[in-house]
Amino acid sequence: MKITKHILKRNECRLPLVVPREDGKNIPQYITVHETSLGLEKKEPEKDANHYIDLLEHPKGDPRYGYHFLCGDDQVWQFLPTWVRTAHSGSTEGNSSIAIERLVNVNIDFDKAIDNQAKLTATLMWMYDIPIEHVVPHKYWSSKECPARLLAGLYGWDWDRFIETVLTHYAAGDFFTDVDEGVE
Ligand SMILES: [Zn+2]
Repeated sequence: MKITKHILKRNECRLPLVVPREDGKNIPQYITVHETSLGLEKKEPEKDANHYIDLLEHPKGDPRYGYHFLCGDDQVWQFLPTWVRTAHSGSTEGNSSIAIERLVNVNIDFDKAIDNQAKLTATLMWMYDIPIEHVVPHKYWSSKECPARLLAGLYGWDWDRFIETVLTHYAAGDFFTDVDEGVE
């Protein structure tokens, strides 16, 4: 599967860089795992990827808010290059991490979407030499209960099983090969 690139043009979603590497860009040191909605109920079917893409392009709140990736069951989107900081964690340090959202609604195969999120997490660990201890839920940075369903242990998944799945992809070298780092 190729990553669908839908890179946002808005400069407003870019926060100042705090951990520059040699080329002056952000070095991701953590990966933050999200789900697209709070609460444990399933979403209405119309809240699909297009709904969230529209929210990113036409923000109703903080225009600096964004995330790098969104995982569905048969598609993965990238909205920001990995070096860009964006407000997604509720903390300054957390906003230097790479944000991976995952769609949750009645049209999404939960297992397949989580597997894509795990594979992408493994890919970014490999690219940036990020240890598994630095793969964290959004809740790690703030008190927000996210990713809510995964943390609640719904649908046969919990955080430990997610981490195991990440490590399985990592060990197998099963990676995405087309992540946009934003570096020429
Ligand atoms: Zn979140």
